[in-house]
Amino acid sequence: MIFIFLGPPGSGKGTQAALIAKNYGINTLSTGDVLRAKAAEDTEPGRQLRQIMQSGYLVPGQLVNQLVAEALSELGSKDIILDGYPRTIEQAHFLAQNVPFEQLVLYFDIQDDLLIKRLTGRFSCAHCKKIYNEHFAKLKHDNTCDICGSKEFVRREDDNPETVTNRLTQYRSETAALIKYYTEQNVLHHVDAEVSVDDIYAKVSKLVKNSLT
Ligand code: AMP
Repeated sequence: MIFIFLGPPGSGKGTQAALIAKNYGINTLSTGDVLRAKAAEDTEPGRQLRQIMQSGYLVPGQLVNQLVAEALSELGSKDIILDGYPRTIEQAHFLAQNVPFEQLVLYFDIQDDLLIKRLTGRFSCAHCKKIYNEHFAKLKHDNTCDICGSKEFVRREDDNPETVTNRLTQYRSETAALIKYYTEQNVLHHVDAEVSVDDIYAKVSKLVKNSLT
């Protein structure tokens, strides 16, 4: 079974994927994480990737398809959550043609104004990676991480206002077509992503559980 977590950047797909992975023992593949690791390499392809990602554009599909195909073949026939893939119709076709697994698509539905606040306000602990937000999930203790006590925090390079606007424009123009595609395939389920993490999890967990039994 392939669980496709589809939704704009900042819709909470990554957080929910991590919770489902932990509670159900399902592997997760985040193309954003894999690409960020590659972009951090001090090589020419690494630099090119970093430039694309910093401007908020999509990385060429061929490269992403190849990364996903490799990761999926390593996993064999195990269930998997795909976080951030497919993002275009071409990627969806590639997946359908090359990976003959049953698909369940969870669409994280959320308005842009809330996304902008979530993304531009997002920062995380440099040590334990706990994610915070200037508007919604502030630090409880004076400038120290609630979990590990560190005073060092980092922001994703692509969470600045200009790049965020680009990422959302890219998403709305490319990825929105996927909603139509998966609706026609009868595998798409709406998840209200404007509610709390716990409420989103209740819905996501129910959908995952039902499809595994
Ligand atoms: P994310 O962490 O999912 O927000 O992804 C961060 C960035 O990685 C995106 O803005 C894209 O530049 C790139 N990226 C991630 N997944 C894909 C994908 N499926 N296709 C193309 N680019 C991607």
